[in-house]
Amino acid sequence: MSSTVPNHLSQVTAAKVRAALPGIPQQPAREAADRSDAPTLSPALVQGQTIYIECPDYCQADHMAEDIAFIGDIDHGTMPVVLAVPTYSGEVEKVLDARLMTVDHSGECRTVFALDGMGDGESAELDGTQALAFLDQYMAHGEKLKSLVQQLIAIEAAEGAR
Ligand SMILES: [Zn+2]
Repeated sequence: MSSTVPNHLSQVTAAKVRAALPGIPQQPAREAADRSDAPTLSPALVQGQTIYIECPDYCQADHMAEDIAFIGDIDHGTMPVVLAVPTYSGEVEKVLDARLMTVDHSGECRTVFALDGMGDGESAELDGTQALAFLDQYMAHGEKLKSLVQQLIAIEAAEGAR
């Protein structure tokens, strides 16, 4: 038997390899040192009680900020990335609220790119491919805006030269 780790396993952690090979005895000392697979436990407030829940690595939510009625209602996600847009009134409107989020549909959890484009609190749940497609449109939109602004700057310069 070879001790060489197959190529497809070279990226996985020792803990995952051990988990995949249940016949191999665990080594407590090494297990304590290898924390890559240890769940990240975070405090959460549920019905006034502080409990500890497992968060995905990317989760930046403060689960103590709000008292939740049911543990299943806890949302995991990154901090939102928003675009501040100036409005006629001089106020700034935050739109294109995007974040990574774990969603649970009928007990099936998956991570999505949650995009609340209009600021109405309703998010589209995009997978990586869909999010990339949106991002392509977004970047193209940015280029068009830049072109308009460059036109404006040229117009301003011409008007200033008069
Ligand atoms: Zn979390």
